[in-house]
Amino acid sequence: MRLGTMDINGHHRIVGVVGDGQELKHVDLAQIDQSLAISMIDLLSQNDGLAKAAMALAAGQTKGPFVSGRLLAPVPNPGKVLCIGLNYRDHAIESNAPIPTEPICFSKFTSAVIGPDEAVRLPKSAHQVDYEAELVVIIGREAKYVAAEKAMEYVAGYAVGNDISARDWQIGRPGNQWLLGKTPDTFAPFGPYLVTADEIADPHELKIQLRLNGETMQNSSTKELIFHIEQVIAHVTQLFTLSPGDIIFTGTPPGVGMARKPPVFLKAGDQMEVEIEGLGVLRNSVVQE
Ligand code: ZN
Repeated sequence: MRLGTMDINGHHRIVGVVGDGQELKHVDLAQIDQSLAISMIDLLSQNDGLAKAAMALAAGQTKGPFVSGRLLAPVPNPGKVLCIGLNYRDHAIESNAPIPTEPICFSKFTSAVIGPDEAVRLPKSAHQVDYEAELVVIIGREAKYVAAEKAMEYVAGYAVGNDISARDWQIGRPGNQWLLGKTPDTFAPFGPYLVTADEIADPHELKIQLRLNGETMQNSSTKELIFHIEQVIAHVTQLFTLSPGDIIFTGTPPGVGMARKPPVFLKAGDQMEVEIEGLGVLRNSVVQE
């Protein structure tokens, strides 16, 4: 099941998605089942929320009610945006960084989250802004002290992400903190939908690509991930709780602009497309602030 959050005349609704390619239709699930939550975090927090959403979508997939509006990020206001750095072997090598021995964790503020077809805005003070195609994990249940063998039970689904990064604010700054380079406004696009975990046979076996103005810049597979999703969840929940709607950017494969010779950085007018097998395409343009 694919679920999106749609802005319809200023009101957020959860929509189920039917159809393929350009022929997508969006079903307003709460019109079918009034007991359904209308925010994604609330829906994921309900014990049977996803099951009820699936029943509503099954009932409405041929006759609707179909709605249209602007798609937002599937979880527009996640409680946490956790990110894993240098999590593809080849990307660590292209970054001249050692292969990590445990997950490298950083975060973004939720103010960085945007959805599909929204513009990434280049800050006036950043001049080396880069793209990073990433698989995003969306947490479905409260998770603390979770063993790796049980960790996938806490995953609600997946989406496509782009970990936008201002390299001139990320690298070589005092204290080696990445925060400022990673969390400017609009630097965490993800979407277009939450694809529920049952639809993805193996999240560590998905093609992942990024195209910049039509040219393929990153082309890899999630099988190259160093730390798998279950290891990341087990690692971080030793220390903090993951809650429904929290999202995890799992790291990027090789081909980022910083590592190219000469380097490629984003500029106003650029069009980015990140595609992950089974999860759709996330499109974002670039504008200057
Ligand atoms: Zn990243």
